Amino acid sequence: MSGPEMIITNAKVLTMDEDNPRAEAVALSGGRILAVGSREEVEALAGPGTRLLDAGGRTLLPGFVESHLHLVLGGNELSQLQLGGVHGFDDLARLFRDYAAKNPELPLLMAQGAAYEILDHPVTRQDLDQVIADRPIAMMAPDHHTVWANTAALKAAGILHGAAMPPGHVVVMGSDGTATGELLEFEAFSPVLALTGDLHLQLGIATGGEPDPWPDAAQRAKDKQKVAAGLAHCAMHGITSMVNMDGNRYTCVLLKEMEQEGRLTARVKVPFHFKPHMDLTELDRASAMAAEFQGEWVTSGFVKMFMDGVVDSRTAFMLHDYPGTTERGAPLFEAERFKDICTEIDRRGLQIAVHAIGDGAVRQTIDGYEAARLRNGPRDSRHRIEHIELIDRADVPRLGALGITASVQPPHPPGAMDFPMSTMDHVFHRHRWKDAYLTRTLAEHGAHLAFASDWPVTDVSVMRGIQAALTRKPYEGCQDERVGLMEVLKAYTAGGAWAAHMEGLTGKLRKGLAADLVLIDGDIESIPAEQVGRTGIALTVAGGRVTHDPSGMAGGAG
Ligand SMILES: [Zn+2]
Repeated sequence: MSGPEMIITNAKVLTMDEDNPRAEAVALSGGRILAVGSREEVEALAGPGTRLLDAGGRTLLPGFVESHLHLVLGGNELSQLQLGGVHGFDDLARLFRDYAAKNPELPLLMAQGAAYEILDHPVTRQDLDQVIADRPIAMMAPDHHTVWANTAALKAAGILHGAAMPPGHVVVMGSDGTATGELLEFEAFSPVLALTGDLHLQLGIATGGEPDPWPDAAQRAKDKQKVAAGLAHCAMHGITSMVNMDGNRYTCVLLKEMEQEGRLTARVKVPFHFKPHMDLTELDRASAMAAEFQGEWVTSGFVKMFMDGVVDSRTAFMLHDYPGTTERGAPLFEAERFKDICTEIDRRGLQIAVHAIGDGAVRQTIDGYEAARLRNGPRDSRHRIEHIELIDRADVPRLGALGITASVQPPHPPGAMDFPMSTMDHVFHRHRWKDAYLTRTLAEHGAHLAFASDWPVTDVSVMRGIQAALTRKPYEGCQDERVGLMEVLKAYTAGGAWAAHMEGLTGKLRKGLAADLVLIDGDIESIPAEQVGRTGIALTVAGGRVTHDPSGMAGGAG
């Protein structure tokens, strides 16, 4: 008997397991947790083959569960121009021109993270023509629901003179009959993104379809390189499980190949993306994905839908008109049809996750889940709503009553992390601020919480997310929406695992569960809340394998 492979000792272990909340040491063997207990108990298990790791009093947690991100898109974007925090024409132009000089071969110069107010007026193609006119360039808003393109990009994409679009997707036209350069929602900007040559990586979010032709081995190798970059980025932030919020079978195949090649460093759950134009029979593809991918590393078993757009472009569906307008956005699914769709997905035993941002979208989504439950009878469905940026008070208790998970993002409330407060005035009536970006209120009324970043919409850093959750200030005259440290940690671990139907595998440090853990570079209970975001990750272990080890304390990531 050579003993467990690794023992992490002298740690402040926060297990997220109510039966055994605190410990000092953990032993790992065969990709599983062998023991959680006191230093003496666990060290006594050591054998000649055991690597003994002194945590130096640092906090050890279950590996983070990222409940809402876009791994393939995020990995792809890591190599694109980053415009987060950039303001004003001069900086914008300088950065784009530098990037162009360094990337002479790229058919489209694509930038990410462009704030809606990056210039002091709405961005037009003419603005971007002044940045670079002779090559196609485009930039995406942080929420990934708006793209601005220059004239060369619009021409190359064939949409300079407009294009027919499904409801909610808009090539914005100017009074001169040409596109202004602003493109709202996926279908409108996908012709521009197609110029990059990797549009097939966008299918999981754009159409829910599969690449045609199916990418050959060489193309898949390139795609896997991008996914690997995304996975390494996530491992650096302590993430060992993630719920990918776009997808198709191709996404699962890439991940499965990476698992077989020993390159998959996190558990990934991938949905079937159901679009409004699809016939119910297309759900056969969702059931087939669920049946094909059931391992511990790559799973499906859920269906993602979008009920509306986003707040900044006013495509979120509200119960009341936006301030100073006669517009309230529109739902992407008709209410009765949505109930039928939910009922059919639920009948198939699949989970549902719906992006719903406006209070109208949230209500219509709850109505769909409620109808499914009434028609099919209750089951352990754990349907979830993504974002919930505004909710009508009457709907708050319905989440808990129906067992719905509130999958919310602590970095998203304006003012909480990177998003500007200007959104609040622009989008929400002052008397509704008390109903915007609720967390504690939802939890107090019985909703399950799962926290996430929506990366690449915001920084994937869980530590920054924890800080945002702990330090968010109440909006003027509104209640405090923070939850306590342990609840925050739970929403990033056990809560997320439960919401993903993965609680039998991960999310807690408990004997028999997977050896998924993260060692924080400090004692999280004594770090001031406003410094948590700067605290590093000392070690990430997924399934017993070290995936991030910046100081070499466990002999390096392998
Ligand atoms: Zn998302």
